[in-house]
Amino acid sequence: MNKAKIAAMARDLESAYNKGNIPVNLELIAEELGILVRHGKINNDVSGVIFKEGTETVIGINEGEPPERQRFTLSHEIGHFVLHRERDLCVTSQRLFRKPASGDFREMEANAFAAELLMPKQAIENAVLKLSADEVVSKVSELAKTFGVSEQAMTYRLANLQLFPMS
Ligand SMILES: [Zn+2]
Repeated sequence: MNKAKIAAMARDLESAYNKGNIPVNLELIAEELGILVRHGKINNDVSGVIFKEGTETVIGINEGEPPERQRFTLSHEIGHFVLHRERDLCVTSQRLFRKPASGDFREMEANAFAAELLMPKQAIENAVLKLSADEVVSKVSELAKTFGVSEQAMTYRLANLQLFPMS
C-alpha cells in the first residue's frame, strides 16, 4: 500500500471519530472500532499486541513503557486493525520501533499510519505555521507534549513533513 493511501486512511479515521481534537483521542477511536484495549504487563521487549479473542479484537499495551510510547503503540496497533484486517495476530516488539526497516512491510505501514493518526499533517502544519526552522526546533518539546508523543516521534514527523531541518 502506498504512503498516500495509508495517510488518507488515517485521516479518514481521525475525522470520523476524533474530529480534530488534539491530543487525538485514541481510546475513543478504538472504542468506535469495537476494539478492546487493555494495558498490562507484557514480556519485556514487546510494546503491544493485537489479537482475536472469540469474536472480539483486543489490543494489549505494555504498561511498563512511557505513556507517550504507549500511545504510539496503540496507534500502531489500530493501524494493523485498519490496514491488515486479514491478520489475526501481530506482536510488535520494541526492536521494530527502533529499526522499522527490518523487513516486515506491515510494521512500516503500521508506523506510518500511527504517525499520521497521532500527528495529523494539517494540525502539525497549523501548529508551526509562520515559524522559522529555528523556532520549530525550539518548540519540539512543547509540540510533543501537545500531541502526546515522544520528542523523538515528533522530530521524525516534522522531518517527514519537511518542516524540520535534519542535520
Ligand atoms: Zn506491529
